[in-house]
Amino acid sequence: MAKRDYYEVLGVPKTATEEEIKKAYRTLAKKYHPDVSKEENAAEKFKEVQEAYEVLSDPAKRDQYNRFGHDGPQMGGFDGFGFSGFGGFGGFEDILSSMFGGRTRTSGNARRPSRGSDLRTSLTISFEEAAFGTEKELSINKHETCSRCNGLGAESKSDISVCSRCHGSGRIIVEQASIFGRIQTETACSTCGGSGEIIKNKCSLCGGDGRIKKLSKIKVKIPSGIEDGQGLKLSGYGEAGRKGGMNGDLYINVNVRPHEIFSRDGLDIYMEMPITFSQAALGANIIVPTLTGNVNLKIPSGTQTGTKFKLSGKGINNSRTMDTGHQYVIVNLVTPNKLSAEQKDLFKKLSKTNEMSESVFSKIKKFFRN
Ligand SMILES: [Zn+2]
Ligand SMILES: [Zn+2]
Repeated sequence: MAKRDYYEVLGVPKTATEEEIKKAYRTLAKKYHPDVSKEENAAEKFKEVQEAYEVLSDPAKRDQYNRFGHDGPQMGGFDGFGFSGFGGFGGFEDILSSMFGGRTRTSGNARRPSRGSDLRTSLTISFEEAAFGTEKELSINKHETCSRCNGLGAESKSDISVCSRCHGSGRIIVEQASIFGRIQTETACSTCGGSGEIIKNKCSLCGGDGRIKKLSKIKVKIPSGIEDGQGLKLSGYGEAGRKGGMNGDLYINVNVRPHEIFSRDGLDIYMEMPITFSQAALGANIIVPTLTGNVNLKIPSGTQTGTKFKLSGKGINNSRTMDTGHQYVIVNLVTPNKLSAEQKDLFKKLSKTNEMSESVFSKIKKFFRN
């Protein structure tokens, strides 16, 4: 099939202004867009319009075309034009996106900078590390920008040209016969592998990808006060971007191992402390462990089991909010199960005295049946 004149394709005169070309392209792209067009051979026409627009919208390419036409020395595909991206007023996909509300199937230009993916990982720290903060080193296998070509993928800039088949979009529309008639599907361009560009001399280190997968060691500062299941975000520590795009982020889920005797509620620490019957009855000074060392706790006489004592400021400090919690000590009366003869004797004596006030029983008295 003979190639039609680009001006003819867009229906504009040779003297058309940039604005007129853009306008004609918008109208035709909308008319033939495979997503919406009911025209015959819409996909073919759409491609034809795209191609014409790509050349005529670029002053340098238009000049080449005016002088040499389709058969000019630079016209063996688009490679000779040294496409420098679709600068000016944005790529044609941008225009389509605005026309179709971003619903276009040909979304995105493969050659544009693209942001690297986010990565997720998790790490487990001890109760104390969570309480005081810590620094951990993570080893993560991820894509880094190639140090040899600096992300270019080629030995030099002049080795890169736009794929002539997909014109840099990395996607092509394929028409297939089916029982429902002809259907159009969009697939990755097999000529360029979806990258939208052809590299003559690929970078010898990354093989053209512009990125290299390698094990990266990342130091993570974990703030004090972090809770089990809380996340940390390390901006820019995800996968490297492509073509100068931004790096993704790294999300770390922090798990905190439980402690043998302490438990946590936010910044407060709880612990159960066993005390003897005599300590509870007579009162005592007992030694209680905290995260920062032992402290003295005065138990008043007549302390009931389950009584909660507060050690102000002995909880966890959150380095971000500078809030500090408290430690709560819940005393548990331990009933002796092994008594010496002497102890037994003492308890027997005690039981003969009125060891418990009547009031303790008064509440449940009515439930006793005579
Ligand atoms: Zn291609
Ligand atoms: Zn490289």
